[in-house]
Amino acid sequence: MADADLVILGGGSGGYAAALRASELGKSVILIDKDKLGGTCLHRGCIPTKALLHAAEVADSARESEQFGVNATLHGIDMKKVNDYRDGVVSRLYKGLQGLVKSRNVTFIEGAGRLVGPKTVEVNGQQYTGENLILATGSYARSLPGLDIGGRILTSDQALTLDTIPDRVIVLGGGVIGVEFASVWKSFGSEVTIIEGLPHLVPNEDEAVSKQLERAFRKRGINFSLGIRFASATQDDSGVHVTLEDGKTFDADLLLVAVGRGPNASGMGFEEQGVAMERGWVLVDERLHTNLPGVFAVGDITPGLQLAHRGFQHGIFVAEEIAGLHPMVIADVNIPKVTYCEPEVASVGLTEAQARAEHGDNIATYEYNLGGNGKSQILGTAGFIKLVQVKDGPVVGIHMVGSRMGEQIGEAQLIVNWEAHPEDVAVLIHAHPTQNEAMGEAHLALAGKPLHAHA
Ligand SMILES: Cc1cc2nc3c(=O)[nH]c(=O)nc-3n(C[C@H](O)[C@H](O)[C@H](O)COP(=O)(O)OP(=O)(O)OC[C@H]3O[C@@H](n4cnc5c(N)ncnc54)[C@H](O)[C@@H]3O)c2cc1C
Repeated sequence: MADADLVILGGGSGGYAAALRASELGKSVILIDKDKLGGTCLHRGCIPTKALLHAAEVADSARESEQFGVNATLHGIDMKKVNDYRDGVVSRLYKGLQGLVKSRNVTFIEGAGRLVGPKTVEVNGQQYTGENLILATGSYARSLPGLDIGGRILTSDQALTLDTIPDRVIVLGGGVIGVEFASVWKSFGSEVTIIEGLPHLVPNEDEAVSKQLERAFRKRGINFSLGIRFASATQDDSGVHVTLEDGKTFDADLLLVAVGRGPNASGMGFEEQGVAMERGWVLVDERLHTNLPGVFAVGDITPGLQLAHRGFQHGIFVAEEIAGLHPMVIADVNIPKVTYCEPEVASVGLTEAQARAEHGDNIATYEYNLGGNGKSQILGTAGFIKLVQVKDGPVVGIHMVGSRMGEQIGEAQLIVNWEAHPEDVAVLIHAHPTQNEAMGEAHLALAGKPLHAHA
């Protein structure tokens, strides 16, 4: 006899979204987490880092106030107060989430769970069997072989506990997490160097966006080394010393290792129960079923984009799948992505290179420069919106860079996911003066009727 319609192991973005949606659909739910409800995103990821980035933006505004005729002086950063502000945001959201889960009659069990049957989890010596089971145990910050975390060598988990600002910091990895921390520390006054083994920062983005971000970071005085791989690091009382494969060395007070996140799926009985896995990831089909009947996996333990909103959508999807609602399959390619460094990067759909690989020369691209956008001029930001279109067809990719451009991702993802043609968007009205107008202008131009655009 099952103890609940649904047992969920892991109460992060994926797990708790599944719990909330399943209970809405009348299912009984047991949600198990060994730590705080909300997982990585709420406690060690999205929310605390974005609070730091907001404090960084405030610092930059004070520092740059004179260019707007405002005479303010930045006296310094009180890291303890920054952390208090950040923790306040997290704890308000945490309280809200706890209340939500309680009000939906989800049974929350605190403790480390282990799979002891195909649909049975043991926690605190008690066994819970579900009609269905969802694995949602998330991911962990990876390091490199021979690079031990400890002392001056940190991952994002430890970086978020710092109550001081390093004078000099090296960030290993120019992906999303790396550039966000680099951006915060630079705004807080550190000397920052990013080391990225691939030829560009944010290497998963459209190359034009990466190049613009590199220009902007250079202008901000953020140092970076691209295309040469990390070889080794040592630490002593004086600091941390990093050597690259070409022999070049860098010294700093701290080294942040931001080389990606691995699946947290081992040592919890998954293999013993026969869950199909590959290189540590739990394998699922497009409907998020594992190879075991009635067992699903969501979020960061499945191969693909590691984003909170992907986890939410996975969770909702599985709850609806279990309830027999036949939800629409979620394709990773059309999941919006935002990197919240200064300037921000936001994208959805295919990059130009991916579109070329898929459609050959049958594509058109257009780059609308924010130089022609009133609000961006007011803010003093540079950047662009780049559209990738299948010729005479839908817009399949939108790529943006510039201050606050993350806020434009909402319309961008509607355009790509609704397979809009440039002509469909060109007739829609965008309020003036907003950065959102740049979205309208880009589509006007691609539809052959540019307004505020130089040829
Ligand atoms: C620094 C940083 C910044 C980020 N910023 C963003 C961002 O801005 N936007 C964005 O979309 N994404 C961001 N992410 C990614 C986002 O946090 C993850 O994609 C998301 O949290 C994944 O959700 P999940 O449910 O798969 O896993 P998690 O949130 O990791 O949740 C897994 C849960 O499972 C629990 N668990 C694990 N093992 C067990 C066990 N044996 N028993 C019981 N419980 C267990 C854990 O305690 C945890 O609560 C960021 C991540 C990091 C690290």
